Amino acid sequence: MNKQSQSSPYQRAGQWLVAIVSPLLLLTAIPGCKTVNSLDDIQQKKTLTVVTRNGPTTYYESKLGPTGFEYALAQEFADSLGVELEIRTAYNLDALFEILDRNQADIAATGLTAPGERARDYRFSLPYFNAEQLVVYREGTRRPRKVEQILDKDIMVLARSSHAELLRKLARDHPTLRWRETTDLETLDLLDMVERGQLTYTIVDSNEFEVHKAYFPLVRRAFQLAGPKPVGWALAHKPTDDDLYDAVNDFFTRISEDGTLDMLKERYYGHTSHAGQGDSHTFALNVERRFPQYERLIKEVAREEGIDWRLLAAISYRESHWNPRAVSPTGVRGMMMLTQTTAREMKIENRLDAEQSLRGGARYFRKSRRRIPKQIRDPDRTWFALAAYNVGMGHVRDARALTKRQGGNPDSWSEVMERLPLLQQKAYYKQTKYGYARGMEAVIYVQHIRSYFNMLDWQQVDEYRRKPPVHVTAHLPEGLRDVGPLIAL
Ligand code: GLU
Repeated sequence: MNKQSQSSPYQRAGQWLVAIVSPLLLLTAIPGCKTVNSLDDIQQKKTLTVVTRNGPTTYYESKLGPTGFEYALAQEFADSLGVELEIRTAYNLDALFEILDRNQADIAATGLTAPGERARDYRFSLPYFNAEQLVVYREGTRRPRKVEQILDKDIMVLARSSHAELLRKLARDHPTLRWRETTDLETLDLLDMVERGQLTYTIVDSNEFEVHKAYFPLVRRAFQLAGPKPVGWALAHKPTDDDLYDAVNDFFTRISEDGTLDMLKERYYGHTSHAGQGDSHTFALNVERRFPQYERLIKEVAREEGIDWRLLAAISYRESHWNPRAVSPTGVRGMMMLTQTTAREMKIENRLDAEQSLRGGARYFRKSRRRIPKQIRDPDRTWFALAAYNVGMGHVRDARALTKRQGGNPDSWSEVMERLPLLQQKAYYKQTKYGYARGMEAVIYVQHIRSYFNMLDWQQVDEYRRKPPVHVTAHLPEGLRDVGPLIAL
């Protein structure tokens, strides 16, 4: 519907990884646009309209189509109602709430902290997770540990965010607290400014930080400014539609009980748990320095062998850090660290030849993927195949059997992932068919590749981005108010 995208290249000097899809659209009031937000309306129009913002924790278009945690939740909800999902993206929180106020969307889904001052104007669904509000700083500068240490410092947050609300509250007890609020930047921009030393502190929700920190190796958690707070969907207060509100809450109750919510959390946040920031930083450097030499080759081989190039790039990075001459004492070698036997099986003559190695690895991965039971669908299918690529199919089967014995779902990667490390313990592996396996290593292997894959995915998605002019409002303590406007960047 009222979607329009504009884009222009955004590149951070010398750094590829500012992975930001920022909102390209500002949705404004459309005269005559039909009022929505009653369950009846939704069912009649057969469309649920959800407003969100672009971002890795919310919604973005990837090469494989729309994705993101909020998007996936909204799609689930639309499916449960048997209607189509229409996504609208707002450019900032202000625009988002305005869309809701004008009843141009049924629900706002964008990691909103509930309910605080917002309770006056919006109804919040049951929470789908809790997030801490974190102060973050740049490594190499002094780490603050409490609010007294950030008074009188340069802080910037999103206008109309729960973070701005929190600062307003704190300012009552700490009159020298000052900060700026921006309507034109996104969380990722603020993190980027901290990374580059252009901003001293910002505040970010912990779930967002977990996902974003991979892209900002120098941005560190300083301290928790507010404890875990519920995050939920917002619905307009007026007109109030109890049926819609109840349907949303029934939906959240159901998906918490039947495991869908956990599955989605794992899918969208699961990769963050094993990738350390240092490792991400090294990856970023390698993408900049080494990857360009192999990019064409990787893309070409991936296309010819029928695998996603980002996956091939992520696997080959994990295997050899893109070093075609890599050799390990265990006898595996080359870009994809193939054994002699695998190479022969995959019809590869020279393992130290980058192209051959990539080809051999891609074929081996596909073979492993084909052997995963049919009912397991992507993305789990890919993670299972990677685990099997690393530790062997037999052990993956054992871990699935163990999962089933323990009452878990053997087709879910997140559930099997929890059991794989048990194959290292005698009490467990003695009951299995294939015995001991380095299960933890396989889990870390998969999670690392997921994380590299995501970073490459973001790089692709965000090559184009409009960088808006920056408008900030300064909240200064008395006495500092006459210093004039503060303009960032
Ligand atoms: N939790 C924040 C809020 O409610 C929004 C999340 C974000 O900063 O992106 O304002």
